[in-house]
Amino acid sequence: MAANDSTTSQRPAELDASKLVVTTLAKRKPLPPMESLVFGETKTDHMLIINYTPATGWSAPVIKPYGPLSLDPMSSCLQYSQNVFEGMKVYLGTNGEARLFRPNDNMARLARSAARLALPAFNPDELLALIKELIKLELRWIPKAPGCSLYIRPTIIGTRAALGAVPSDSACIFVIVTPAGPYFQGSKKGISLLAIGENIRLRPGGSGGHKLGLNYASGFLPQTLASKQGYDQVLWLLGKSEKVTEAGAMNLFFAVQRRDGDVDLITPPLDGTILPGITRACMLAFAEAHSTGKIVLPGVPASLKLHVHERPVTMGEIDVFSTQIGRILEVFGVGTAVIVVPITRIGWRGKDIVLPVHEGNGLGQIGHGMWQMMVDVQTGKTQFEDWSVVCD
Ligand SMILES: *Cc1c(COP(=O)(O)O)cnc(C)c1O
Repeated sequence: MAANDSTTSQRPAELDASKLVVTTLAKRKPLPPMESLVFGETKTDHMLIINYTPATGWSAPVIKPYGPLSLDPMSSCLQYSQNVFEGMKVYLGTNGEARLFRPNDNMARLARSAARLALPAFNPDELLALIKELIKLELRWIPKAPGCSLYIRPTIIGTRAALGAVPSDSACIFVIVTPAGPYFQGSKKGISLLAIGENIRLRPGGSGGHKLGLNYASGFLPQTLASKQGYDQVLWLLGKSEKVTEAGAMNLFFAVQRRDGDVDLITPPLDGTILPGITRACMLAFAEAHSTGKIVLPGVPASLKLHVHERPVTMGEIDVFSTQIGRILEVFGVGTAVIVVPITRIGWRGKDIVLPVHEGNGLGQIGHGMWQMMVDVQTGKTQFEDWSVVCD
């Protein structure tokens, strides 16, 4: 009995949202003018922090005023890039309520990313409960203008304070939030991509299927080269056949006209080199629901069938499509940050493949229908599955 008791008390503590301790900022910061928001630069009042050590397990979660972290210089996150993150948003609903979008999927992906870097496991439901508490405290930071949201960045870093190149036995989860303006601002109608097959971001068998900080680090040099040549982002190609993968923090979709009048909606498969985007999964589900008559995508004829293909696409194929008049209807990137954004041109082998750009924000019928459907579900205007979760 006594022996049992002592084993129980020594077991490292699980992540437990009920142990939350909140210290609020005495004088809240003034809200910045929402017109001048630059993505990811505004710091709000509070942040959430939880620490893990092998001896004690997960500490009591703390919400406290936003501020710097204090880290030992030997910390494994600084030395060996044990950093994983998520990107999710909370939207103002049609009745002023705060709504998360498929948050359980973000938590599950974060848990998988942490496991990929051998970071300590945590209970995703408890973390989500804590994120909701943080959001309730930061509600006034959700911009009220249409298309705006509060971006949430849950992060886990390895904090083992020693130089041995071994898995980190210690970790810190922190969650910060930052207000985000609408992606479409001013006259910009989409983004251009430079297709790059060298110095590639991710290889088969690598870590591309997880949201790891290190996946981004090696992409920044090619990104600067692309910027110098006048392109917004890099389109990462894979292998001799130059398979299209993804661009920036976006999955890609190609809408191609079929001879029978329907549309093929093609996206590269989840082969481990591509991040399994939640927005990507939404596009696939919406296309399916539209084609079976379960929903009608706003502005898309109900009779138009969208045939989804998760299959490899090569640059050569895109090039051929683009030379056949009227064949490529739309190319768009999707992700939490942009929702849906049109791709205007792709630089490849010294030339530009120019893609159709449509009136208004540049999106075509399908891209716009997808975008509108996403916004409608995110704000609770339209219900689809149980994807929109009120934060209460
Ligand atoms: C986050 C991310 C995406 C988009 O994922 P969502 O879940 O749709 O936001 C796509 N590609 C990469 C590389 C990413 O990091």
